Amino acid sequence: MIKRGTSKRLPKPNEVKLHLRKNDMVVVITGKDKGKIGKVLQVFPRRGRAIVEGVNVVKKHMKPTPRSSGGIIEKPAPIHISNLMLYCPKCKRGVKVAKKFLEDGSKVRICKKCGEIFEAKE
Ligand SMILES: [Zn+2]
Repeated sequence: MIKRGTSKRLPKPNEVKLHLRKNDMVVVITGKDKGKIGKVLQVFPRRGRAIVEGVNVVKKHMKPTPRSSGGIIEKPAPIHISNLMLYCPKCKRGVKVAKKFLEDGSKVRICKKCGEIFEAKE
């Protein structure tokens, strides 16, 4: 007999609180891509890393497969989020983020400098 639990309790992943989300525009503040601005394509909360368009691009050698001819492909590799800052289009630079509650109770991220709201539309 299979015992059925009423609630599925999954252990919560040890998530790091990230100041970045998918589709954010960010600036790289250290490393070989310093100063580059790109869009966050993917975040890895547990690893504290993110993939940013055009940043930390690595060349990968692909073996030919029946589906592709192989060769070298360029792909952005994950970069640690401590190397990234949110890009503020008003300040035209990487900025620190502050949190703010709107009248409807929702929490948004704003630019600490100019108050621009960053919340990306889902
Ligand atoms: Zn700003």
